[in-house]
Amino acid sequence: MKAFTTVAFALALGIGLGVVSNAPIASAASTCNPEIRISIGRLEENPVLCDPQLSVLVLDGAHSVAIPRPGTFVEVHFLARDGGNWNGQDTSIFVGEKGSTLAIVDGKSFGDESLISSNPDQLQTVTQAATQAPSGCTTNANSVGWASWNKAMQWWYAPNNEPSLYARNRFGSSFQTWVRGLSRCTNYETLTALNTAFQGNSSLAPSSSASATSCISSEGKSVVGWKPMPLDLLGVTCTWGEFLFSTSMSEADIALNSSQPWFFPENGLPCANQFNMQQAATHEIGHAIGLGHVDTSYNQIMGPSASVCEVGSNKLGLGDLTGLLNIYGK
Ligand SMILES: [Zn+2]
Repeated sequence: MKAFTTVAFALALGIGLGVVSNAPIASAASTCNPEIRISIGRLEENPVLCDPQLSVLVLDGAHSVAIPRPGTFVEVHFLARDGGNWNGQDTSIFVGEKGSTLAIVDGKSFGDESLISSNPDQLQTVTQAATQAPSGCTTNANSVGWASWNKAMQWWYAPNNEPSLYARNRFGSSFQTWVRGLSRCTNYETLTALNTAFQGNSSLAPSSSASATSCISSEGKSVVGWKPMPLDLLGVTCTWGEFLFSTSMSEADIALNSSQPWFFPENGLPCANQFNMQQAATHEIGHAIGLGHVDTSYNQIMGPSASVCEVGSNKLGLGDLTGLLNIYGK
């Protein structure tokens, strides 16, 4: 975010440009809301949460997202199986300095909209109506989230539950697809300002709950790995970052569903009712670097679901590439 918009944004909120405080919100104790599990309905009433960091937003009984500390956001994105019954909703939660909270669930806002209403960087979807060829190369449809990395994204790989020894390298290739702007629509690489750095293996699990329908607390490291999940789900990405005084991503954890059958070309066998692991990884990394979903019909990596044996679509569609360059273009 540009400096002057940061100032304008802070002034619009009636706050000074100080350091974000991690201290409990003691002064609001008499008026704050003590609920630890808070529903969308309660959020609509704009309660000030006494202790956001210990609270969770319960979406529909089955899904929940841990509310992050004041001044930060968390986002959860799901990648579904085509034709399945996954009903989890992509959700963003923003917490103000004083504990007011805004949730955006599948594009609808609940709670304190003033938290980001002055922010020019908030979610914007750019689409271009075009006759869509199956290649995904005739549309620039993309959805730019509102936070991105302003430093290298350091990532660790957690091999626990991995379905193949080739999985880590496939994740690496997926990161390179975005860093180098590798598109199925161009025959050249595109230089970007995106920088990612593999840090080695980790015993930490990606920071989503065991069933992967919730993002639990950020632990400071971006971890990429595997978890058993419901079979209608292929993967989950949780991102965290700052939004009050500067807009930046600070952590992104990616989990693919270890319960699915995954396709690895290294095995030398044709795809048989398996999901293309690299395609799914590339999709989740798209979220990790700041992109949202576009409609399935545009045939982009950032569509919300995938079918078995989509083995020809590891590279970016034109909309994916446009979104990448909107954020990290040089
Ligand atoms: Zn997604």
